Amino acid sequence: MSEETDNVQLCIIGAGVAGVGIADALSESAIDVTFIEKSRGVGGRAATRRKNGCRYEHGANYIKNDPAGNTKQLIESLGEGGLVDIDEPIWTFDADGDIQESDRQEDHKWTWKQGITQFSKRILARTHATVEQPVRAQSLNQANGRWTVTDTDDAEYGPFDAVVFTPPAPQTATLLAETTVGGEEDDRLVAAHSAVEGVSYRSVRTFILHYPFAIDRDYYAIVNRDKAHSIGWLARESCKDDHVPEGEELLVVQMGNDWSEAHYDEPREELAPVVAEMVAKLLDDDALTEPDWVDEQGWRYAQPEDSVTMDAIEPLTEIGLYAAGDWVVGHGRAHKAYWNGVELGEQLSATL
Ligand SMILES: Cc1cc2nc3c(=O)[nH]c(=O)nc-3n(C[C@H](O)[C@H](O)[C@H](O)COP(=O)(O)OP(=O)(O)OC[C@H]3O[C@@H](n4cnc5c(N)ncnc54)[C@H](O)[C@@H]3O)c2cc1C
Repeated sequence: MSEETDNVQLCIIGAGVAGVGIADALSESAIDVTFIEKSRGVGGRAATRRKNGCRYEHGANYIKNDPAGNTKQLIESLGEGGLVDIDEPIWTFDADGDIQESDRQEDHKWTWKQGITQFSKRILARTHATVEQPVRAQSLNQANGRWTVTDTDDAEYGPFDAVVFTPPAPQTATLLAETTVGGEEDDRLVAAHSAVEGVSYRSVRTFILHYPFAIDRDYYAIVNRDKAHSIGWLARESCKDDHVPEGEELLVVQMGNDWSEAHYDEPREELAPVVAEMVAKLLDDDALTEPDWVDEQGWRYAQPEDSVTMDAIEPLTEIGLYAAGDWVVGHGRAHKAYWNGVELGEQLSATL
């Protein structure tokens, strides 16, 4: 429900890191940005949760640098207050649960004392974007060259000159199926829908296991390199400043794709003891079978396994529709999604 101004009106569906990157690139432009975001927070899959005095990242664990060092510069530009660069290394384990020190060179692993959502919050704070939330976009229609977005409560937002889709590909495909031009289907939308629907994803069920005692190890996390273990990743959140009170531990356990898909709809209460057993076996410590509390998050669309065919989505620009996100760039990494958003923002700044 944007106010009428002479500025170009842009709607970004989804305030994850890709959307935030678009707004960042447009912060000096005469384009007004309105986010439509279904959840109460920002950051999408790069999110933080708080419970019982702990803070933990249940999606993306940290932000990495890129070879050119642009992400390092970006992180520094957000202010170093509260910045955490995890010192402890990442080791590996195999199908038999054999844990090995890794010989891979350690890189920066950034988050913030207040959590990884700071990435999106700090960037948004330097833009003029408006965030409408919690608002779940359901359908779009273009009339007289301008777009209206309708949410699941039938409220309308717009008119917008252009709209960017940033939800994971399957959710963007659902929206494209509900997008019309003058109330009619459009061949470009049909072709884009089929390409976007074809992007495949890894699923992850993340279990959070809390213990009222410290767990000392020489690593921050261990990753299953051969992808043949039920557990894909296990991290000690105590290695992040201000995340876990002294003398306690909180393990973030991301289950592998096959296990996650096989058990996706099973209740957390039934699975948590099974996961805790696996963790105890992997870390060779019986005390770990009994966390004092657990939490869980299912990510049906955790990380894309490939990227969309751009040939099918580029024609949408003729009608003012765009897409950004990790599935556009083809890498399930927060910094890649952010830079993909920046690239699109720069393109929109030059063309809208
Ligand atoms: C378990 C897990 C671990 C990961 N680990 C790492 C890691 O350690 N390091 C790393 O760099 N990356 C990691 N990633 C990947 C990283 O989180 C993503 O690549 C990145 O966050 C994608 O950002 P995005 O903006 O493209 O999408 P998203 O973060 O998914 O943002 C899309 C936004 O759209 C919103 N949305 C969806 N549908 C609608 C709708 N209909 N209406 C309104 N809003 C809508 C969503 O709520 C969301 O906020 C991990 C991901 C997962 C799930």
